[in-house]
Amino acid sequence: MTFADLGVIPPILKALEVQGYSQPTPIQTQAIPSLLDGSDLLGCAQTGTGKTAAFAIPIIQQLALRKDRQAAPRKIRALVVSPTRELAIQIGEQFSAYGRYTNVNNTVIFGGVKQGAQTRILRNGVDILIATPGRLLDLIGQGFVHLGEVDYVVLDEADHMLDMGFIHDIRKIIKLLPKKRQSLFFSATMPPEIIKLSANILGKPKKITIQPKQQTAELVDQGLLHVSKKNKAKLLTHILQSNNYDSTLVFSRTKHGANKIVRILNKQGIAAKAIHGNKSQVARQKALDSFKKGHTNVLVATDIAARGIDVEELSLVVNYDLPNVPETYVHRIGRTGRAKASGIALSFCSPEENVCLKDIEKLLKKRIRVIEDHPFVNDVPDISEQHSAPQRSVPHTSQNNGPRPSRKVHSRNRRRSYR
Ligand code: AMP
Repeated sequence: MTFADLGVIPPILKALEVQGYSQPTPIQTQAIPSLLDGSDLLGCAQTGTGKTAAFAIPIIQQLALRKDRQAAPRKIRALVVSPTRELAIQIGEQFSAYGRYTNVNNTVIFGGVKQGAQTRILRNGVDILIATPGRLLDLIGQGFVHLGEVDYVVLDEADHMLDMGFIHDIRKIIKLLPKKRQSLFFSATMPPEIIKLSANILGKPKKITIQPKQQTAELVDQGLLHVSKKNKAKLLTHILQSNNYDSTLVFSRTKHGANKIVRILNKQGIAAKAIHGNKSQVARQKALDSFKKGHTNVLVATDIAARGIDVEELSLVVNYDLPNVPETYVHRIGRTGRAKASGIALSFCSPEENVCLKDIEKLLKKRIRVIEDHPFVNDVPDISEQHSAPQRSVPHTSQNNGPRPSRKVHSRNRRRSYR
């Protein structure tokens, strides 16, 4: 199956070639033809499946082929609502990349920065608006954004919108849209509240479910390290210093914890930055850019700030704290082992977190391989009572599953004990 087989037009095919996409991912194969036919879509898929291109390509294509779009100034014909600024920016980047050989343009608006630059672009006219809910409502209120001509609306990461308390904002936004429109709704999970919301927004949608990565992808090599709470920072420092990972994303449960980890790593000469909700938008974007460019090797993030972050070739994900919600574990480790690359995910588990571990392993339907070969293993009380014997039988799946994010990292790490 090729993108041409799905009915994608030549200028977009050319852009996809530049991106290096040789074939569509499963969600793209399923979604693109029905979206080009004008269907509504309910997509149960998480970041990393190629879902952004699955909705961006048909929207760009439909707009590029419309003759009534030519009159200046451009009107907003497509609206994408995203829960976080980082995700909104990444969606905007993807729209720009896929639409580069068309005359369809886009802009991204989000809070936490002055609005002047955003309103200037809006005044000149855009076809596609990507927005976070708060700033969108703000600029609608000020008269800079009109949704009366919107034909395509995408609600991305709907479950995350719910978690972040955006549900009322979403309802307000939906009320401002024309009744006749194509609606796309994406969510990684489908709890009852989300299903109810989707029913309000969508007509008779085509439903697509793409299995979360952990259930399909053996791509992520997962390891579990039992360690006391007080030794976690030392263990992280030890791992980062004794290996040479190009890019490591560390998950901390709290913002305060993330700052503390960064301070400790920096003291040890490890280039690390934190990204979380208390940081200004500018600081978050700077940290992310520096990480993407490889100037910072370690990014320490909270779940909300990290979700949707799209960093290619992430070598290692560390769960410094285990999440209370088992699905979050899946989202976190999905940050490595993207589309084609495989990756490593190491989880630190203090005795207090054994309950979380149990829930995660229940969801995964398997035990995570225990790594005992680390300097702080003996400081952990009662491991044997809290977790079963090491799972030596769990295969190092990543060795058999395609290329690693970085060959250099791969060959070096092969000799280490953390894989
Ligand atoms: P997403 O799920 O939209 O966050 O996409 C995850 C990553 O996959 C992004 O870095 C995309 O650039 C990449 N991607 C999307 N579609 C394809 C494709 N057909 N082939 C290879 N990579 C892709």
